[in-house]
Amino acid sequence: MASVRRLVREDPPELRLRRSEGSHLYDARGRKYVDFLMGWCVGNLGWGSAVVDRPARSYRGPDYVYPHYDYPPWEELAFLLASNAPAGLERCFRATGGSEAVDLALQAAMVHTRRARFLSLEGAYHGNTLACLSVGASQYREKRPNLLRGCAKVKPPLDARLLGRIERQLAKRDVAAFIMEPIVMNLGVLIPPEGFLPELARLCRRHGTLLILDEVATGFGRTGKLFACEHSGVAPDLLTLGKAITDGAGGLGAMLATAKVARSMQKDGAFYSTYGWHPRSTDMAIAAMRYLTRNRRRLFDQVAATSELFRMRLAAMGLERDAELRIRGLAIGIHFGDEKRVARIAGKCRAEGLLVGPEGEP
Ligand code: PMP
Repeated sequence: MASVRRLVREDPPELRLRRSEGSHLYDARGRKYVDFLMGWCVGNLGWGSAVVDRPARSYRGPDYVYPHYDYPPWEELAFLLASNAPAGLERCFRATGGSEAVDLALQAAMVHTRRARFLSLEGAYHGNTLACLSVGASQYREKRPNLLRGCAKVKPPLDARLLGRIERQLAKRDVAAFIMEPIVMNLGVLIPPEGFLPELARLCRRHGTLLILDEVATGFGRTGKLFACEHSGVAPDLLTLGKAITDGAGGLGAMLATAKVARSMQKDGAFYSTYGWHPRSTDMAIAAMRYLTRNRRRLFDQVAATSELFRMRLAAMGLERDAELRIRGLAIGIHFGDEKRVARIAGKCRAEGLLVGPEGEP
């Protein structure tokens, strides 16, 4: 008999999952965990939520739609996203997930500005394609020296001095786009101080650089607003979405662009995606978006109240003496500045049945 080759992961999986429900995960032995990660900003409505479960079960649409054909719910989802996104983001591009959405945004910025350089935050994570890794942490380059050239990084903290360094880079007028998360989940919930993002947007406009806000992790209510850029009132030129767009029930990503940038992309870009906006996932995303927008006030009041509870309880634990508490809605980070201690605490939480993520884990 021919030998059967199995695909084997090098590292053992962290958790052998059997079931998920609400805020809980159950492992193969039936042990119950409180899931503070929710798949890293995926299950924002809770696992198994009827909001996406119902349309998934009652789906009667086509098995698949060829991207050059039309599927009317595509139009509906694009409208729902664009009409609830910051002003000016009128056009939607279909993607399979977050990385593809970010890759599309980088391409759109190149095509539109006819520039080839990118600027991003050191240590950031924006996805796993080679373009996404190019604007991510410099360390990704160690094993892949042929990532996109011309990608410069600026190091947090997010303060006035950093804006000065950014301006010096942008003044060369060869940077296609600056990309960052409006609240940097992948750097342990780094929250820009008031005025930072509006000033960044002004600098980008002044030097002909497009601003990409990556809301793959922050989008769909995680930070207490539908999109995290609403906290600062900044409307980017390009916005990338994924993860909680279907609450985990199906793979889907989206790239939103201004009409001007979309025109350049339509003229000179390449954006065919075989599984971009699979009809089944599209219906789930529509259901999730309708629910979020119709219940916006109630849901976000609840996020604010729960956030305040976390702030109080974490403060009562005395963590602020030697750690920095970073909270915006239900994006919650505690910065210890000592990796060994973080690993110890995460391990202890796990032993107590509480799943948390070490800083920066995508
Ligand atoms: N951007 C950000 C900010 C992310 O956190 C991630 C995933 N962790 C991605 C992009 C990539 O998304 P995906 O894994 O769906 O490709």
